[in-house]
Amino acid sequence: MKTPFVTLEQLHKIIKEHPTPFHLYDERGIRENARNLHKAFSWNKGFREYFAVKATPNPYIMRILQEEGCGFDCASYAELVLAEKVGSKDVMFSSNVTPDEDFILAYNNGAIINLDDFTHIEILDKLCGIPEVISCRYNSGGDFKTDETGNVMDVPGEAKYGFTRAQIIDGFKILKAKGAKRFGIHAFLASNTQTEDYYPVLAGMMFELAVEIKEKAGVEISFVNLSGGVGVNYLPDKSSQDIFKIGQGVKAQFERIMHPAGLENCAIYTELGRYMLAPYGHLITKALRYKNIYREYIGVDACACDLMRPALYKAYHHITVAGKENAPHDKVYDVTGGLCENNDKFAIQRPLPEIKVGENGDILIIHDTGAHGHSMGYNYNGKLRSAEILLTENGRFKLIRRAETVADYFRTLDFSGDYRF
Ligand SMILES: *Cc1c(COP(=O)(O)O)cnc(C)c1O
Repeated sequence: MKTPFVTLEQLHKIIKEHPTPFHLYDERGIRENARNLHKAFSWNKGFREYFAVKATPNPYIMRILQEEGCGFDCASYAELVLAEKVGSKDVMFSSNVTPDEDFILAYNNGAIINLDDFTHIEILDKLCGIPEVISCRYNSGGDFKTDETGNVMDVPGEAKYGFTRAQIIDGFKILKAKGAKRFGIHAFLASNTQTEDYYPVLAGMMFELAVEIKEKAGVEISFVNLSGGVGVNYLPDKSSQDIFKIGQGVKAQFERIMHPAGLENCAIYTELGRYMLAPYGHLITKALRYKNIYREYIGVDACACDLMRPALYKAYHHITVAGKENAPHDKVYDVTGGLCENNDKFAIQRPLPEIKVGENGDILIIHDTGAHGHSMGYNYNGKLRSAEILLTENGRFKLIRRAETVADYFRTLDFSGDYRF
C-alpha cells in the first residue's frame, strides 16, 4: 500500500495559504533515503552521489541533498548555474551535444567533465585545455541484460550516448598524453530499473572495462560512475528496492574484479535522480468537475503540464483521495486534467472512493512525483506551472517555488501594440 506523507489536516492548512495545484516534498523522507544510500555504499571510501539536477531543479531540495553529502550532476548551462548558486563545488557535468559555452562554464567552475564523445576531446582541448580530472561515458552497444535469461532492459546500441569500447581506450591514451591525471568512466544503460541486479551487473561490466583500460591504455581509473537508473516502484502492491542489497551486490563485483587488478582505491560515484526524490514528492490537486458520458470522469485542477509522465509514458501514478484512505474504492473513474489532449489523464478506469467536486471538492494526492515531475512541466494550452512546497522535518511548510502567473507566461512576448514587421 502507498501511504501519503501528509494528512488532510496538514493539506487544509497549506491550501489556505497556497492554492492547488502544487508539488509537495517531504524533507524527512529525502534525508532518510539519502542517508541509507550512503550507508549502503560506505564500504567504498570515495563513494559520492551526484544528484541528477534535472530530476528536481530546486535550490531548497538541492541544499538538503548537499547537507546529506551529495554533489550535483548537471547537463546544461542553466543546471551548472543552479549548482553554482547553491554553492556547490562538487559537480559532475554529464552532458551530450554540448555547446562550447557549456564546456567553458563547466571548466571554469571546476566541474568534472564527463565527455560524451570521442570528438569532444579535441573540442574541449581547443576551448579550455584538458583538465587534470576527466571522465568518459561508455556505450556498450548491443542489448543490455542483467543476466543471460533476463529480459532486455535497454538497447545501448540504439542510444546516442557515449564512446565505443575501442574509442574509449584510444580516448584515454590521448587524454593521458594531453596531461590529464585522474580518470573516470561512466555509463547509463537503463532507466527506472526494477531489479536489484542493475547496478551490480553494470558495475561488473564497468570494472572489467577499467581493468582493460589499465592494461591497454596504461591509465588507472580513479572513479567508476554508475550514473542513474535505479528505479522506484510506482505501483502500490510492490515493495521498493533494497539499496543495501544493491550496495552489497556492487561490493561483491568490486572485490572480485578490482581488488586482483590493484584497483581497490577506485571510488564509486552515482548520479541518481529518480531514486533520490520520486517517492518524496506528491502532486496535490483539487477535484473540480464531474462528468458522466460513456465513462465517469473526475476533472482536476492539475494537468499533464504539472506531471507529464502518464501522458508521455502511460506511466502509473497511485492516487489517494485525502481523508478517504479507508473508504471503499467502489467507483471507477478516469482522472483528467483540462488540456485539449485526450492523453491528459492521471488515471484511466481507476477504482477510487466516490469523489466530491467543486469549490470544496476532494483533494487528490498523486504519488511519486518528486522526480521528473515539476521539472518536466510545460505551458501547453497556456497552463501555468505550479508552485513547489516543502514539508519540513518539523511539520511546517515552506513555499520553495511560487506558482507562475499569467504575466510570467507572457513575459517573452511583445504587446507594445506595434505589430508591423
Ligand atoms: C537522467 C540522468 C540521470 C538520472 O537518472 P534517474 O533515472 O533519474 O536516476 C543521471 N545521469 C544522467 C547523465 C542522466 O541523463
